[in-house]
Amino acid sequence: MHLSGKNISVVGMGKSGLATASFLVTRGAQVLLTDARPEHSLPEVIAGLNPAIELQFDNSAPGKNADLIVLSPGVPVDAPFLDEFRERGIEIIGEIELAFRFNKTPIIAITGSNGKSTVTTLVGNILRADGRTVHVGGNLGTPFIELIEKGTAEFIVLEISSFQLETVTTFKPYVAGILNITPDHLDRHKTSANYHAMKERIATQQSESDYFVANLDAPETVKLSCGKRSQKLFFGAQHEGGDGAYLRNGEIILKFQGREEVICKHQEIAFPLRLLVENALAAIALTAPLNISVSVLADALCNFNGLEHRMEWVRTFNGIDFINDSKATNVGATCKSLLAIEKPIVLMLGGRDKQGDFSAMLPLLKQKVRHLVLFGEARGIIRNFLNGSPASEEADSLEDALKIAVSHAKAGDTVLLAPACASQDMFKNYEERGSLFKTLVNNL
Ligand code: ADP
Repeated sequence: MHLSGKNISVVGMGKSGLATASFLVTRGAQVLLTDARPEHSLPEVIAGLNPAIELQFDNSAPGKNADLIVLSPGVPVDAPFLDEFRERGIEIIGEIELAFRFNKTPIIAITGSNGKSTVTTLVGNILRADGRTVHVGGNLGTPFIELIEKGTAEFIVLEISSFQLETVTTFKPYVAGILNITPDHLDRHKTSANYHAMKERIATQQSESDYFVANLDAPETVKLSCGKRSQKLFFGAQHEGGDGAYLRNGEIILKFQGREEVICKHQEIAFPLRLLVENALAAIALTAPLNISVSVLADALCNFNGLEHRMEWVRTFNGIDFINDSKATNVGATCKSLLAIEKPIVLMLGGRDKQGDFSAMLPLLKQKVRHLVLFGEARGIIRNFLNGSPASEEADSLEDALKIAVSHAKAGDTVLLAPACASQDMFKNYEERGSLFKTLVNNL
């Protein structure tokens, strides 16, 4: 792909937009970087950009003379301001597709509604522990386009979101996995069918020499694998199939090309991965084609302490466990946390609604939750779903929500922040929400 002298508009001054503009300009392209936001609301990092990048604030529209448009994942591909470019046949791609066109390294790519960051990090750990050189990034940490600049590696491990998949065309990972699909981002994708179709794009270009990993406990991911040319691998905590990773009689099993090995016992895996064992199984299945030894795999599972804000144990105080799962930003993630915790739960729920189907969590709330504390914009919506059971109270701030939660918790209970909503009604992001929760808990 020749960039020299091309007029390229990069839409969106987020992390991947900034990295894309820098990548393109150092390769001789004329770059216009646009954003709908005013200059003062954008990060200071903009000021340090290569001065050859032309900047346009308050307006996302690409330059009229653009030969190529690179969209940031935050901008929907069907945004009306792109219509005229589409009509003129101007190519519109995303950062993942652009980076792929310059990439020469085999890719392990992971998508799904929940667990992507955890599995991506764990796969990276496994490869490093096996002595492979590896770059890890994508939707998590370093953008793919920046990994291209980092020089050669044996593998690139990428977390890929559904937003990023909207704009791929030739992206072809060596191993692609879909961890699970539960409703999320319907505010953007509109229908479940669209959301599923986006996830499926991770594997559409794969060939016979590639691998596709699906979750046997989540049949919708298996359906997506049908008809693809790639070789199939599976994982399952409740169901077992052909080549892949499974939980059988309390042990993690790997089956691959006629051999079957016990990796370790379920109970030996570190917290919180032990509670979310499907993430461990997914990572084992995703790395199966690389023939990694049992001892390396077992060490990686037993030494992985999880990521901040994902089922993160904060403290045990007065016999009550406090868990920060601020990254549980949809109903599916919160349900998974509720299922994983065996003790009675006082749940802190709320934030900005993403058109979540809260009725889907009602049976679990009734079964597992001693008391519910609602906060944030979505509390009225959630209250309407509850119909009085389980008992709930409402709070104006996270601080008040925690106070109420503590007043209802007994020794032996778990106070869980797993909001099932986005954070932006009260916080910059889920990290800020989780960090405040931890500070408040540590100050009790
Ligand atoms: P993602 O990158 O897809 O958002 P993370 O690994 O950051 O996923 O985890 C986000 C949240 O999703 C966690 O805090 C937990 O509540 C939930 N979660 C993690 N793994 C799974 C899984 N395999 N299935 C369902 N929910 C999960």
